[in-house]
Amino acid sequence: MYVAMPEPSERALDLHARLVEFMRDEVFPAEASYAAYRVEKGEHDTTLPPVVEELKASAKARGLWNLFLPSESGLTQLEYAPLAELSGWSNEIAPEAMNCQAPDTGNMELLHLIGTAEQKERWLTPLLAGDIRSGFAMTEPAVASSDATNIETSIVRDGDEYVINGRKWFTSGASDPRCELFILMGKTDPSAATHRQQSMVLVPRDTPGVTVGRNVPVFGHWDQHGHPVTEFNDVRVPVTNLLGEEGGGFAAAQARLGPGRIHHVMRALGAGERALALMVKRVQERVAFGKTLAEQGAVKERIAESRIELDQARALCHQAAHVIDSQGNKAARHLVAEAKVAVPRAVLAVIDRAIQVHGGMGVTDDVPLAAMWGWHRAMRLFDGPDEVHLTTLARAELGREPLFRF
Ligand SMILES: Cc1cc2nc3c(=O)[nH]c(=O)nc-3n(C[C@H](O)[C@H](O)[C@H](O)COP(=O)(O)OP(=O)(O)OC[C@H]3O[C@@H](n4cnc5c(N)ncnc54)[C@H](O)[C@@H]3O)c2cc1C
Repeated sequence: MYVAMPEPSERALDLHARLVEFMRDEVFPAEASYAAYRVEKGEHDTTLPPVVEELKASAKARGLWNLFLPSESGLTQLEYAPLAELSGWSNEIAPEAMNCQAPDTGNMELLHLIGTAEQKERWLTPLLAGDIRSGFAMTEPAVASSDATNIETSIVRDGDEYVINGRKWFTSGASDPRCELFILMGKTDPSAATHRQQSMVLVPRDTPGVTVGRNVPVFGHWDQHGHPVTEFNDVRVPVTNLLGEEGGGFAAAQARLGPGRIHHVMRALGAGERALALMVKRVQERVAFGKTLAEQGAVKERIAESRIELDQARALCHQAAHVIDSQGNKAARHLVAEAKVAVPRAVLAVIDRAIQVHGGMGVTDDVPLAAMWGWHRAMRLFDGPDEVHLTTLARAELGREPLFRF
């Protein structure tokens, strides 16, 4: 299907130019300080390197704040895409510097869409200000959570309260001391229709019975904000903490994951571009067997393949973003699924080639490639493993009315 893309607005172009400056003048130079703090504190420390708060203040002053949320930024998803991509060049720092980091962005979107006025005042306001952080507690170690209908955490009404019992993991962000809120998904009615059993509830982190436990690394890398096990034992919250309607949790999770998925994909393109830039620099400097690596035929081919794959992946991502803008999340769901599979694959292929041309250095922390590879490999699992998206796409294709009958 042919989809015509609109031109970006003057505002979007201006923000892009300002973000390029911010990345060049402040974010990239801050990476060394960020890394030094984390090394000094040790890999299990979950406090935020102070340089990020400095960057947050600067991003706010530059108007580069909350760009992910159309109602705050005035941008379309298609206009946000190149901005998110720029932030993906420094994925550990830049998204948070701009208050555009997962999982808070998805949580803010949910609160914005279906939160009550009181819930917005209590939680959305400080999240939009970047004063607190939040986690999204859906995945459970005991069940295959790629099928969200498997979730077992119970949410039982008792008078004016819900009582929550369950064990989650990969609650990204929960290890960060600034994390004050969980959006938890569990079952309010296990006897209801399969997709009407689940509900979402707001759980303040300091509620008795909430335990943030063991953190888990991603390919040996300990993310600052963590992906820990979280336990909920007889946790009581008022019924007014229900987010949306009872039985609406599954639909709300889909709503949350739509924009969340495409934003991960947008940022991934930035990581791919950084890997390609590192590859190009390295091969022009390094000499083996009497020639620079750039003069070796095989290396040239890898560079060209990388450019093709990134541009193809970006075209798909932008098409999905434009259909979200013009026709809504539901109409875009298959394009989002395509992009969610295709972009991490392309980016991983580029990072892998970049690692290869760096030789041994490529697998060390002297260049960011190994950490980038780990994160984007994990992306093939989170927000739905590849197979789940491929199954959805195959089902749509098999059910499609053919254009010609032979
Ligand atoms: C870095 C990271 C951050 C995360 N952050 C969060 C978070 O903030 N909050 C949260 O709730 N969760 C989070 N997750 C969890 C993530 O969403 C789940 O890991 C994912 O949904 C898969 O669930 P699972 O691990 O239970 O795998 P399972 O459901 O057990 O699936 C295992 C494998 O089975 C295969 N499979 C599944 N379905 C099909 C199918 N239909 N056809 C063929 N094969 C299939 C796939 O290969 C899949 O990888 C995060 C995960 C990672 C790695």
